[in-house]
Amino acid sequence: MIAVIGAGLGGLLAANLLAKEGYEVEVYERLPFPGGRFTSLNYKGFEVSTGALHMIPHGSRGPLAKLLKRIGAKVEIVDSKPEGEFLWNGERIEVRRRVFPLKAVLKFYKELAISKFKDRTLDVFANSLDDFTKAFLNSFLGWSLSIYPEDITFRKFYEIFKQTVKYRGPGIPIGGCKAVINELVENLESMGGRIYLRKEVRGMKESDGKIKLLVDDWKVFDSVVSNVGHKLTAELMGEKISHPEESRGIKYTLKLEEPFLEHTGVLFVANKNVAGMNEVTNADPNLGKGVMLQVHQPFRGEVRKAIEIGLREIREIVGKSFELIAVQSFSNDWPVNRAKAGSDLGVVFKERVVVVGDGAKGRDIEVEGIALGVEKALEELKR
Ligand code: FAD
Repeated sequence: MIAVIGAGLGGLLAANLLAKEGYEVEVYERLPFPGGRFTSLNYKGFEVSTGALHMIPHGSRGPLAKLLKRIGAKVEIVDSKPEGEFLWNGERIEVRRRVFPLKAVLKFYKELAISKFKDRTLDVFANSLDDFTKAFLNSFLGWSLSIYPEDITFRKFYEIFKQTVKYRGPGIPIGGCKAVINELVENLESMGGRIYLRKEVRGMKESDGKIKLLVDDWKVFDSVVSNVGHKLTAELMGEKISHPEESRGIKYTLKLEEPFLEHTGVLFVANKNVAGMNEVTNADPNLGKGVMLQVHQPFRGEVRKAIEIGLREIREIVGKSFELIAVQSFSNDWPVNRAKAGSDLGVVFKERVVVVGDGAKGRDIEVEGIALGVEKALEELKR
């Protein structure tokens, strides 16, 4: 019997994969709903997500879509069209056609990178670019990873960039994040897996080659998959570990009378604190009663100040009246990412204990990295 601590996307993917391979699985989730930071709650008529911007970074082609297929979860993903635009000096420029000379630039720099940039932070490389390309790189990092160039090395970013070139841009699951989670829950239960909500795991210890978890009482398992990150996993075992910093962000949900973007891709924003925006109701009108524009802003420092600046910028960019449905900030134990991209700790925590989720990603962006990490973790568990 294998226990999964946490019913976030990472935990549910792992539980499904284990059940598919014939293991007995039990998932324990402390909240009254599954999905963690990858689901939504209906608020003022809109599916306001608990985290994610309802986007799958590589759409129907990437590692997450492949893993969903492998475990038999049926999720319809609309690939974004255009993949993105870049707002530069008031002009909206399609990313694929005109900004992606960035691809050429990086290709050129690849050779250079091997000796000059590879282990240095990305700001060193960014400072060698022209203003346009540098601004795009900054907003791409802010939107996709909620980080700044000095947060990641060139080498780590290059791994992510290669995946983006390989699988290309994003997609939106019909029904949003919640539809992915609902499908994973149903699929798991149809294979005999069990999910217990409002069941917080409060302790974990090794005992005679098994792992014991404290839920209501101590219960014995052969192995444990932890979806709560390395820091909390260590705390459950009464240990303390040093952990990389989390990435922080602010998400604004706006109701508009008419579409602003009018497409299903991302509008990356140059030289602002807010990094980009999307309008997922163009892919699935059922995600809101009206047009839902979501804006994402990475932040460091004081959150209230950051929100003040973000709202001012949104008014400037959107330029028409809107209703502010929600402003959510993400940090500490409910962050954008538990470990900033490129600083993820490995999937192995201890013998018979693996970690999945966004502190243990494989080499890709966000939920794509989570899917790769889950596959790797389960390989380790089976060794
Ligand atoms: P979580 O979702 O945090 O799941 C962990 C679960 O464990 C939670 O449900 C928690 O309640 C539970 N738990 C914790 N402690 C215990 C315990 N002791 N016992 C039992 N249960 C416990 N990614 C994308 O790919 N696309 C996007 O558009 C995107 N946008 C984002 C925008 C924002 C503002 C944010 C915050 C994140 C975004 N992300 C996006 C990132 C993505 O949402 C996360 O990487 C992902 O949801 C993390 O999933 P997880 O399974 O690692 O963790």
